[in-house]
Amino acid sequence: MKKELELYLHIPFCIRKCEYCDFLSGPADEKSRRVYLDAMLRELAAVGPQAKEYEVISVYIGGGTPSLLPGDWMEELMEMVRDTYCLKKDAEISMEANPGTLTAINLAGYHRAGINRLSLGCQSTDDTELKLLGRIHTWAQFQESFQMAREAGFANLNVDLMSGLPRQNLTSWEKSLEVIAGMEPEHISAYSLIIEEGTPFAEKKPELPDEEEERRMYERTWEILQSYGYHQYEISNYAKKGKECRHNLGYWTRKEYLGFGVGSASLFQNQRFTNLRDMRVYGAFNGNPESIRRDRETLTVGDQMEETMILGLRLLCGVSRNEFRKNFGRSVEEVYGPVLEKYSRMGLLKIEGDRIALTRAGISVSNPIMADFLLDE
Ligand code: SF4
Repeated sequence: MKKELELYLHIPFCIRKCEYCDFLSGPADEKSRRVYLDAMLRELAAVGPQAKEYEVISVYIGGGTPSLLPGDWMEELMEMVRDTYCLKKDAEISMEANPGTLTAINLAGYHRAGINRLSLGCQSTDDTELKLLGRIHTWAQFQESFQMAREAGFANLNVDLMSGLPRQNLTSWEKSLEVIAGMEPEHISAYSLIIEEGTPFAEKKPELPDEEEERRMYERTWEILQSYGYHQYEISNYAKKGKECRHNLGYWTRKEYLGFGVGSASLFQNQRFTNLRDMRVYGAFNGNPESIRRDRETLTVGDQMEETMILGLRLLCGVSRNEFRKNFGRSVEEVYGPVLEKYSRMGLLKIEGDRIALTRAGISVSNPIMADFLLDE
């Protein structure tokens, strides 16, 4: 039986940078976009033979703003994926899209390309908040895009929302959640704003909701979304039953994945590596995957255990004790006994049958807990 593999395709173009964004993305003219796409087609073709033993269970086209690419370009990309990789029949094929860039013609092309899940960046339903974030779209444009996506036949939609924004308060956050949940996307990602170094926000230091208000926002998120029929399955992700993002579940359970395009990361055959970030060098890709891969690291058993716990505890279902033992030949208690005991005693972690998971109280303070799962090697 073939092993499972996920593909990530990075499209690093945006109309302009949002005030909070530190992703590898930015504006580019049509010619540069085409040069980039051609390089990605060559990379997909060149890497294909390395993945002969694998079946691709999901493809995620992220960015940037992939919806800046025309539908027929997306068809070319997916045709290359199908020709070069063994793509599972019911593979989840997601694409990120931003309101203000979607057209009915392009949506029809994305649908023809086989994309079966769209992730729409909304962030807020309040135009003042959107403007402060530097988003290119208004709330009305989001509504229009959502409607167009449904009309184009997309039956699996995610909407991204952000809490902890400048000028946001608990009431405006609750309104964003309720209005979006009322539109019934299959999935909602609700992240809190993090001010990253080197972004305009890091310089401007806008006034943000205080810690107590942020905590309330987080609590209200699952209360409200639960009342609309969404269940939380990861720290920031909520879905209708059976609509969890399979691709991201793969990241959290350490499935192997290959990244294509500038700056994209891979976990493949127990190694992690990342593509170079220089667009010009990438555009001249010479057909040898090794020429663009950087920071290759072979994972030790300790690295693998740490990743299993730190990624797995992001999921509400947590980590399987049996799988841990099967993979590493040691029980999770043997490796992490004192940490498990400490957080169980504090009521932040629970061990029930085969599963070890954070409690609701543990989820809201997850970062320091995760850090305790790093091993001294
Ligand atoms: S649209 Fe997304 S990737 Fe582009 S600048 Fe804004 S946050 Fe960054």
